[in-house]
Amino acid sequence: MEKDIFLAADIGGTTVKLAIIKANGEIVKKWEIRTDRENGGERIPEDIHHALEASLEELHIDKKQVAGIGAGAPGFVDPNSGFIHEAVNIGWKNYNFGAILSELTGFPVWVDNDANLAALGEKWLGAGEGARELIAITLGTGVGGGIIANGEILNGVNGTAGEIGHITVVPEGGAPCNCGKTGCLETLASATGIVRLAKKSIENTHGSILRNIPSDQLTAKDVFEAAQQGDEAAGTVIEKVTDLLGMTIANLAIAINPEKIVIGGGVSQAGSQLLDPLKAAYKKYALRRTYEATSFGLAKLGNDAGVIGAAFLVKANQ
Ligand SMILES: [Zn+2]
Repeated sequence: MEKDIFLAADIGGTTVKLAIIKANGEIVKKWEIRTDRENGGERIPEDIHHALEASLEELHIDKKQVAGIGAGAPGFVDPNSGFIHEAVNIGWKNYNFGAILSELTGFPVWVDNDANLAALGEKWLGAGEGARELIAITLGTGVGGGIIANGEILNGVNGTAGEIGHITVVPEGGAPCNCGKTGCLETLASATGIVRLAKKSIENTHGSILRNIPSDQLTAKDVFEAAQQGDEAAGTVIEKVTDLLGMTIANLAIAINPEKIVIGGGVSQAGSQLLDPLKAAYKKYALRRTYEATSFGLAKLGNDAGVIGAAFLVKANQ
């Protein structure tokens, strides 16, 4: 029997996104289960196993049709063994996740970092379709990154390649980052970073409309909207963030010479208000020939990028 069904799990701190996907990328079913983080997240593999098993049965899919499971988790992953060095949001440390899930389900399991899977998803069926050289950046609560070079995701020697959010952009006196360093890109270009910068910017500017929003309710979206209306404090923040992000991408581009830059995550909903100044900054900092080879696009797959990338992982390894 042809193995043309891929199972996918995108594990986050709150929910596990699951999907059953055909070889052509069509999603047969997608759903979510709660991430049970109790006792160091030890029940997660079992929960995934039961949820997948029940759905295969419900859809009358023969297990012999299943090529394997692709899974992603936020953290440092050894893709060859499926071993998770550390996934802070989930509670895993030195956790042999891939082997445990494979043992439970009887299927081969391939694991990678969630941001890498999002990059693979966009390369397979999204904004990066067909690109062999691609940089994907997710601007959400944090900043995630995945780099595809020569058609393959870069993992590095111990799973930290493509951690774009933790590139230092403020060498001294930068804000503390969740990774333990200071001045990381994530402290500025994430939704959280943009809000932090806006709060500082309001203090130094008279009459910002952002002052009308209670400080604990201020969002990155508010900052973009205020900038759109010509608010100076907000405009300064967007300028700074896009300039630093454009510079970081240009610096990466010297190493990768990418064909496509794909920007996703909640912050990317700002659309051209984000992309236009970002492209301008990229042009300013990249080599001219590097710049000419690159196109920018907004991620197309949204929340499905992770599970589609996970399915691609199975497809690529099958
Ligand atoms: Zn960091």
